[in-house]
Amino acid sequence: MTVAEIKSLLVTHGLAPNRALGQNFLADEAVASAIAEASGAAEFPVLEIGPGLGALTEPLLCLSLHVTAVEIDASMVRVLQARFANAGNFTLLHEDFLETDLTAVAPLLGAKCAVAANLPYYVTTPVCMKLLASALPIERMALMLQKEAAERFTALPGSRQYGPLTVLAQRYYDIKLLMELSPARYYPQPEVDSAVLTLARRPGVTDLPALPRVLASAFSMRRKTLMNNLRGAGLSRENAEALLEKCGIPPAARAEALPPEAFARLAEAML
Ligand code: SAM
Repeated sequence: MTVAEIKSLLVTHGLAPNRALGQNFLADEAVASAIAEASGAAEFPVLEIGPGLGALTEPLLCLSLHVTAVEIDASMVRVLQARFANAGNFTLLHEDFLETDLTAVAPLLGAKCAVAANLPYYVTTPVCMKLLASALPIERMALMLQKEAAERFTALPGSRQYGPLTVLAQRYYDIKLLMELSPARYYPQPEVDSAVLTLARRPGVTDLPALPRVLASAFSMRRKTLMNNLRGAGLSRENAEALLEKCGIPPAARAEALPPEAFARLAEAML
């Protein structure tokens, strides 16, 4: 969609962008097509988060066998229903994605699926954590997010941005920067630059259901040692020491200094 098309759609439906919901609409059709392609939509059913006026939904519907989109705003849902009334491969859920029951959505996404989103900035972290910790069989993702948030996916141990999201993302996915985007690609324009990341599931890497819980404990107090954080999560000193030794982690280590594989070993040991 172009800026003119976005403005015209808003006027037709008597709407204004809701900044509190992060409504900065993508106003570049070439970028929307590139994201749709990079998401894996041509190969897999797609889950789209925050379809808005449908800038990304449109190319996704062209490529994919089925698109399931979750949109919180009733006004956007009305526009999408009108725009894609004839699409036979579209399921639209009027919900807060953070409340969406993914086990109920899973049958729509099949044995392997893709995710595409121009994420609302105010919930980027919880949305990504929900996706990364979910049991959905996500093969590929194309995520558009603020540049600062994108840096958290590719951060190295020891850096300020390194945290639970980094570890989950790097454990399960190969992450690439697809493109960087200036505010001029949106209407209304955001105040910061954005980036699009692609995440491709790493072959042979199994799900570790305990990993999100391990990460929540390990990073609960960033300045404390891993040992103290594990004890804070209810482990006795003896058990915490034995666990760290088994996983080859020094007792004085801090979570922020450990690579993703160390957390994977902890999660495997705590199964
Ligand atoms: N995909 C559209 C595009 O690229 O133009 C809109 C992107 S806009 C940055 C984010 C969209 O997410 C908005 O439509 C907003 O209403 C929706 N949204 C915000 N919070 C949400 C939530 N918790 N669950 C689902 N959708 C949400």
